[in-house]
Amino acid sequence: MIRVDVTRKTYGTTQVLGRIAFEIQRGETVAILGPSGIGKSTLLRLVAGIDPQFEGRIDRPDKMAIVFQEPTLLLWRSVLQNLTLIHPTLSDDGARAMLDKVGIANKSGLFPGQLSLGQQRRLSLARAFAGAPEFLIMDEPFVSLDAKTAEVMLTLTEALIAEVRPATLFVTHARPEAERLRARVLELRGSPASLAPRLVSGLEKP
Ligand code: ADP
Ligand code: MG
Repeated sequence: MIRVDVTRKTYGTTQVLGRIAFEIQRGETVAILGPSGIGKSTLLRLVAGIDPQFEGRIDRPDKMAIVFQEPTLLLWRSVLQNLTLIHPTLSDDGARAMLDKVGIANKSGLFPGQLSLGQQRRLSLARAFAGAPEFLIMDEPFVSLDAKTAEVMLTLTEALIAEVRPATLFVTHARPEAERLRARVLELRGSPASLAPRLVSGLEKP
């Protein structure tokens, strides 16, 4: 369903990514694991179509949602409008139901700046899932949250993935997050980065 075949990505004269090829099936979750600076966000931007400057080919569905590392919210619009403006077919009631699912229904009239970081992350999650995406891309969605909030977010994400069943690609430097979401793990290594040979583990499909 999603087919990634990147052969090369450079910034100026520096090659960041080498050959990286993988597929993601409908309903499957894939985690890209690797240390900071290796090229995870770069790869996600290619897969998402945000950065068209690379060699290779990527096939993906149009119905896609992205959760960025930092919540990219409309700061001058209410929490509710952050959903309805992005999803024009979503009613106010539909948006409220979505906010309820992530536990911030009582914040619908506030501005994003009036939310805690954890609540802003919940809003980004609600925004991503509100369009029932076929393909969900997340860049370190649980980073820089305290352990308890990260756990709440993981539980929420797990439930929303189970409900909407998108193909999911997410980036993390924390293996426990990948295990928690029962993801197939692809590990980036080296410079330029490529996929490490697949290890057989309990997480892999037979
Ligand atoms: P990660 O997400 O794994 O931490 P990134 O994909 O953000 O890594 O970055 C990979 C490498 O590419 C880093 O060395 C970074 O400095 C470099 N890089 C990222 N974006 C750009 C850019 N727009 N221009 C030049 N270099 C960049
Ligand atoms: Mg990154």
